[in-house]
Amino acid sequence: MKNRKLVMIPGPTPVVRSIQDQMGRETVAFGDPDFVKDFKEVIGDLKDIFKTEGEAFVVAGTGTLAMEMGIANITKESYDVLVVSHGFFGDRYVELCQRKGLKVDVLKSEWGTIVPVEEIEKKLKEKNYKAITVTHVDTSTGICAPLAEIGEVVKKFEDTLLVVDGVCATAAEPEYLDEMGIDVLITGSQKAFGVAPGLAIVLAGPKALERRKSLGTIRDYYIDFEKWIPIMRDPAKYFGTPPVNLIWALKESLRIMKEEGIENRYKRHIRVARAMQAALEELGFTLLAEREHRAVTLSNVLYMDGIEDGEFRKVLAEEGVVVAGGLGAYAGKMFRLGHMGNIDFHDLVSTISAIERTLYRLGIKDVLGKGVGKLTEELLK
Ligand code: PMP
Repeated sequence: MKNRKLVMIPGPTPVVRSIQDQMGRETVAFGDPDFVKDFKEVIGDLKDIFKTEGEAFVVAGTGTLAMEMGIANITKESYDVLVVSHGFFGDRYVELCQRKGLKVDVLKSEWGTIVPVEEIEKKLKEKNYKAITVTHVDTSTGICAPLAEIGEVVKKFEDTLLVVDGVCATAAEPEYLDEMGIDVLITGSQKAFGVAPGLAIVLAGPKALERRKSLGTIRDYYIDFEKWIPIMRDPAKYFGTPPVNLIWALKESLRIMKEEGIENRYKRHIRVARAMQAALEELGFTLLAEREHRAVTLSNVLYMDGIEDGEFRKVLAEEGVVVAGGLGAYAGKMFRLGHMGNIDFHDLVSTISAIERTLYRLGIKDVLGKGVGKLTEELLK
C-alpha cells in the first residue's frame, strides 16, 4: 500500500480539516451580511494579534504581491532604500525596488549568517533612506533576522520606514508592529497561518499610512492602500472581489490561533524547531543557519557525504514525506523542511521516522530510532 504524503515543505504547510472545511463551503455573495461580518472580524483580529493602530489588508494574491504592495505604498521614484538580504527572498526586494525606480543599496550576508545589526545602523547613517527591508525568516537559508534589535535601531531614524517580509515567519515568530517599530509587515496565507495559498496579507502602521497619504496618487492600482482602506473598514463596499472562501479559511486559522494563544504558539514553534533540529543533528546532518539565528519555522539541512539530493527526496516521498530542495548555490546540497503552522506531534514523529527509513534505504544503517528518540526526548523536556 502506498504511504499517504505528508507535505513538510516550507509552504504550503498542512491545512487542517477545519480550515479545509471553510474552503469547501458554498460561496456566497461578497455583500452577504454574514460574510461582511466575518471579513470585518478577520481584519480586526489581524490588527489585534499583530498589534497595530494602523490598517490590515487582505487581498487575493501571494506573498510576492504583498511585498510589492508594501513597497509601492510608501515610496516613489528615486527614493533611497536599503535592502538587508539574508538570502534568495531578501534579494528579491532588490529587483522589485529597482523596477519601481528606487535607488537601492544592499547589505548582504553570507548564506547561513546575518548582517550584524551594527552594520545596519552604520549604513542608515550614510543617507536619508526612506525605507529599509528586512526578511524576517529567509526561507532559502533558514536564518531569522534579529528583528527586535533591528526595530530599535530603525526607530532612531525618523524618515526610515521598516518593511518586514514575514511570509515565512508571521504567526510563528513574534511580530508586534507598533511596539517593535515595524511600519509595514507583509505576509501570505500558506505558511505559519496554515491556510491554502492565495492571500496577500499586509499590515501598515500609522507612520506607513501617513507616508502613503503624503505620496498623493501612486502608479499602482490594485495594490493601492487608498483603494482598499474603505473596504477593509467596511467590507460591504467594493473595490475588487474578495476571495470569500480563503477569507473564511483565514478566519478559522485566526480562531485556532486565538484558542492556542499567540504567545503559546510562538513558544510551541521554538520547542518544535529545537527538537526537530536536535533530531536532525543526531542523525548526522548539519544545518546551514548559524545556531544563534536559526529560524523556528523551517530547517535548512545539508546532506552528509554520499547522499544524493534527487534520490533522497524521491525515497523520502515514497516513505510518505515531501520536503523541498535547496535554492541558489545550495540546490542539490540541501533539503528544506518546514515545521510551522498547525502541525502536531504525529506529523513531527512521522517526518523524522521517514527520514530515518530513507537514510537506512540509502545505506546509512545505524540511524533507526535515533532521530525519533532525540525528538521525543526534546519534546518531552
Ligand atoms: N518571502 C519569503 C520569505 C518567502 O518564503 C516567500 C515564498 N517562499 C515569498 C516571499 C514569496 O511568496 P509567494 O511565493 O507566496 O509569492
